[in-house]
Amino acid sequence: MHRLTIEQAVEGLRAGKFSSVELTRAIYDRIDQVEESVSAYIHLTREIAQNQAQEADRLIAQGEKKPLLGVPVALKDLICAQGTRTTCGSKILNDFVSPYDATVVRKLKEAGAVLIGKTNMDEFGMGSSTENSWHAISKNPWSLERTPGGSSGGSAVAVSANECIAALGSDTGGSIRQPASFCGITGLKPTYGRVSRFGLIAYASSLDQIGPMAKTVADTAILLNVICGKDPKDSTSADIAVPNFSQALRKDLKGMKVGLPREYFTTGLDPEVEESVRRSAKTLESLGMEIVEVSLPHLEYAVACYYIVACAEASANLSRYDGVKYGYRSEHSDTLMEMYSNTREEGFGKEVKRRILLGTFVLSSGYYDAYYLKGQKVRTLIKNDFENAFKQCDVIASPTAPAPAFKFNEKTGDPLQMYLSDIYTISANLAGIPGMSIPCGQSASGLPIGLQLMARQFDEETLLRVGHQYQQNTDHHLKSPPL
Ligand code: GLN
Repeated sequence: MHRLTIEQAVEGLRAGKFSSVELTRAIYDRIDQVEESVSAYIHLTREIAQNQAQEADRLIAQGEKKPLLGVPVALKDLICAQGTRTTCGSKILNDFVSPYDATVVRKLKEAGAVLIGKTNMDEFGMGSSTENSWHAISKNPWSLERTPGGSSGGSAVAVSANECIAALGSDTGGSIRQPASFCGITGLKPTYGRVSRFGLIAYASSLDQIGPMAKTVADTAILLNVICGKDPKDSTSADIAVPNFSQALRKDLKGMKVGLPREYFTTGLDPEVEESVRRSAKTLESLGMEIVEVSLPHLEYAVACYYIVACAEASANLSRYDGVKYGYRSEHSDTLMEMYSNTREEGFGKEVKRRILLGTFVLSSGYYDAYYLKGQKVRTLIKNDFENAFKQCDVIASPTAPAPAFKFNEKTGDPLQMYLSDIYTISANLAGIPGMSIPCGQSASGLPIGLQLMARQFDEETLLRVGHQYQQNTDHHLKSPPL
């Protein structure tokens, strides 16, 4: 039962083939079986799940038809769910219990979902391998000596290893798409503003988005419909009509254009990844799409631009962790200043401190124009690149990551190497456009490879439609890890 998709689970529950209590038990049995090997979760919410599953069964018996009624889902541990710990993978928030629900959690509850647990992540979302978690290191179910990617590594592992039916992650520079690609699942970063950030603990507020991580594009569409929409509690959420994403899946691809960005296929790209992506483009061509070459000339500045903007925003967002209002407080201090400083010294990990220092530096008065302001200007150039490219095509296809999952400790000693693994995903956040990763092949050593699709702002329909038609005609998304 743990292998079911959302679609299959909902169908089985409605037909009375099994109950939500049974399905939830099957998921926890699976967790008991594999969690020790993969460490997808920071903590489980067995009691909440038990109550929600019982309530779901009661409603199902009454003929209630909510979109996720009785379906077990997992949440990245930076999304607040009332009464659960929300640690952000950090020591500084290890004992923090959310006093309220994030808007996405309220929406999941209204849709009838069952909360299985909170998943592991790089501390505050800063990382690409989940190695920066204070809690534990998550392992890739396809190869236990490799990382699952990050920062939503725990959510990707939980979906891939069938420890939940689907999950939510967050994506600031690739944190949904890159782990989805490493773990062979589907992950979508929505347009900035599509999904409310209320109750999402902030990393970089102008880049962060919550999004679905699932076994298929069809499931991704269901989840997106549940979580998106204007929210009065988030002024950056967009007041824009929400289409029925599941309906968009059925349209064929005839007459549409897929753009391959010239700059994405150069040195540094693993040949096996390149081959899989090019083959996928051919598949799309055979489904009626025309392939065109497009150019995104400012790609080479994307990583630098992102790390200036993201670190600047992080340095401001993380100033609230001072040992006073909530979270960890150092006990070895004589003065207030010492308490602040010791709390942050003891509570934050190395990468988080590096980002706070970088961010504070680029915002400081002497350097603001040279770095932060310049970064914002480059961001506009990157956004313009996409607007120009989308004059020639409906969707852009590229690798999600330059190579399949890397080994533990392979990049931890060299932050720049780690940052480069986000080279293809970061631009979508800077431009605010939606991006999705779907499985498109395997390396010779059996590791999943991800295809990234990107579309115009608020055109998730096109992404989902292309992704779904691709999955209807290929079987990469049906492969399971050996675990
Ligand atoms: N790996 C990128 C970073 O470390 C992106 C992380 C994210 O999307 N949260 O900032």
